[in-house]
Amino acid sequence: MKTVLSGLKPAELEKILNPLPAYRAKQIFAWIQGGTKNFEEMSNLPLPLRRELGEKFLVRGSVLADCLEDSDGTMKLQLELTGGVKIETVLLSDGNERKTACLSTQAGCPAGCVFCKTGALGFRRNLSAAEIVEQFLFLQDYCGAISNLVIMGMGEPLYNLEELRRALALFKERGISPRRITVSTSGVAEGIRDLADKGPPLRLALSLTAALTEKRKALMPITKTNPLPLLREALLYYQEKRRQRITLEAVLLGGINTGEADAEALASFARGLDAVVNLIPWNPVEGLKFQGRPLREPGAAECRAFADMLERKGLSITRRYRKGLGICGACGQLGAV
Ligand code: SF4
Repeated sequence: MKTVLSGLKPAELEKILNPLPAYRAKQIFAWIQGGTKNFEEMSNLPLPLRRELGEKFLVRGSVLADCLEDSDGTMKLQLELTGGVKIETVLLSDGNERKTACLSTQAGCPAGCVFCKTGALGFRRNLSAAEIVEQFLFLQDYCGAISNLVIMGMGEPLYNLEELRRALALFKERGISPRRITVSTSGVAEGIRDLADKGPPLRLALSLTAALTEKRKALMPITKTNPLPLLREALLYYQEKRRQRITLEAVLLGGINTGEADAEALASFARGLDAVVNLIPWNPVEGLKFQGRPLREPGAAECRAFADMLERKGLSITRRYRKGLGICGACGQLGAV
C-alpha cells in the first residue's frame, strides 16, 4: 500500500523521503499544502523523481464523493476514505473574508448525543491526521484561502486527540494561528486536562446543552462517564493553565432544555468560569427522539426567552447563525459513513 503524504510536516517528509535533500521535502510540502493532488504537477521536481514518487506515495488518501452547496454559501463535501468509509466536512462563509472549515475527527461518533445525526450512526473509526488535513485541502480546492477552523464536524475530537494534535501541528506549520482554531468537545474531562497540560493552544468549547445532571445524562450519555462536577473541574484546571475564555455551547431543543431550571443550572455551572454561552437552536434531523417523542426546533420566542433568562443571571450570550440547513450541513446534521 502506498504511503499518504498529506498529513506530514516538512521534517517528517524529509525523513520519509530520505535520501532526498531537505529542500526537496520543503518543495513537496508546499505543493501538497497548496492543493496539488498528484506528483506530475510538481513542476520544480525533475520528471524521473515525480514518477518515482508516484510509484511509492500518494499525495492524498481520500477521494471526493460528493459536493453540495447551499443558497447561503455553505458547502458540504462528502469524502470517501481508505476502506470505503465516508465522512462529511463543511465550509461556512460569511460572504466576506471569513471562511471557516468545520472538520470531522471520526467516522460516526461513539458519544451518542440524542440530538445529533452523527451520534445516531454509531462509531466506525478514528480519522488519521492525514484524513483530517485532507478535509481542509479539499475545501481549499473549492474556496481558496480558509481563515478559521472549527473542529466540530463528525466525532468527538478528544477521543482522537493524538491524531488531532498531529493535524493541528501541520496547520500551525502552514501559519494558521491557534486563535483561529476552535475545538468543541461533548465533555471528555481527561482530554480537557490533557489539552491544558500539553496544548496546543487553541480555543476550547464545551457542548454543555444541559446542566441538570439527569437531563444531560439522557441527552448526552457521555455524562455517565464524565459527570458534570468532574467536567467543571477540568474546565477550571484548563483556565488556570491556559488563561483563556472558553465557550459553553447549548443546543436548544424545543420544550426540553429551555426552562427556568435549565437556565439556573447552566448559570450555576458557568459561575466561576470565564465563559461565554453560545446558543444554537437545534437543526432538524428526521427520526431523532427524546424519551419517545420526536425532537422539535425551538421557536424564536422560546430562544429569546431563554437567552433573556441567562442574561438576567449575568451570563454573556452569543447566538449562532444557522447555516447549511438546505444541504443538511448545519451543526448536528452531518451523517455520511
Ligand atoms: S454532537 Fe458531537 S459528540 Fe455528540 S454525537 Fe454528535 S458528533 Fe458526537
